[in-house]
Amino acid sequence: MSGWSRANAPKVSFEFFPPNSEKMEARLWDSLQRLAPIGPEFVSVTYGAGGTTRERTHRTVTRIVEQTGLKAAAHLTCVAASRAKIDGIIGQYWDAGIRHIVALRGDPAAGTGSAYVPHASGYSNATELVAGIKSLRNFEVSVSCHPETHPESPSMAHDLDVLKAKIDAGATRAITQFFFEPETYFRFADAAAAAGITVPIVPGIMLQPNFAGLARMAGLCGTHLPRRIADLYDGLDDDPGTREALTAQLAAELCSQLAAGGVDHFHFYTLNRASLALATTRLLSISPHNQDAA
Ligand code: FAD
Repeated sequence: MSGWSRANAPKVSFEFFPPNSEKMEARLWDSLQRLAPIGPEFVSVTYGAGGTTRERTHRTVTRIVEQTGLKAAAHLTCVAASRAKIDGIIGQYWDAGIRHIVALRGDPAAGTGSAYVPHASGYSNATELVAGIKSLRNFEVSVSCHPETHPESPSMAHDLDVLKAKIDAGATRAITQFFFEPETYFRFADAAAAAGITVPIVPGIMLQPNFAGLARMAGLCGTHLPRRIADLYDGLDDDPGTREALTAQLAAELCSQLAAGGVDHFHFYTLNRASLALATTRLLSISPHNQDAA
């Protein structure tokens, strides 16, 4: 699809969720092992809704730091915890050798769609969390951004104000919510640039082969699901192999279009499955083999 040399190959990062069973644990470590040779910029581990995976996120990200040569980023949200509690977690991450946090507000404890109620003595949004992190330790901080606007947001201009505030508080990278059409990214990146936002805006690329799950997530996040994509998956409910092939092909197509517009870093939502991320990066000619041969 494209021919990059080691010098100009785009950067990649991979996002995982913390496993909740022995089987899932084995899948995660197998995935990390298979994706490590690609040389990701970093791998990140999510923080469960409502802070439910605090221990597991910490354990997973610490083990990555201790047992692999990979740079690990820990996600952290403001939900359902006091500042003192969150500040304690920030300190624990630092003590474990973690130097990168993906700082988020998180979804309402009552579920997406309900009103967000900050903890009475907590950080009330991601901007406050970024400032809190930077005041405690000099972490690298990434934040989210929402090219199709956050579902609670009145407008893109408001979201850009929020993003600008997070950057002014110390974030140095924004990772996007997933989207399907390159124009969605470019429209947002142009608006961000016009708003004086100069940090890299890294597209988040979803690798979800389960169409029902994909549609549900898109609905919750406010991501437009194009008719063309729905048609491609139509009738494949009982055909996971074809859905996986399509998912990798569509992701690689989107990345190629983004790269043609100058994007040089892709963040993959792997759902802890190495094969889709490997297939996508290979379709993009990003593989240890091609990079070594350059
Ligand atoms: P924020 O940037 O804080 O903004 C959300 C909305 O809050 C804004 O649109 C605005 O309406 C309002 N807002 C924010 N600041 C202000 C302000 N100062 N004044 C007025 N209104 C304001 N969720 C998890 O639970 N765990 C994860 O690990 C996780 N990882 C994620 C990673 C990425 C890359 C992305 C894109 C999302 C992730 N999420 C995660 C989802 C995230 O929690 C949701 O998007 C959540 O609804 C909002 O958090 P945020 O940091 O994206 O939003």
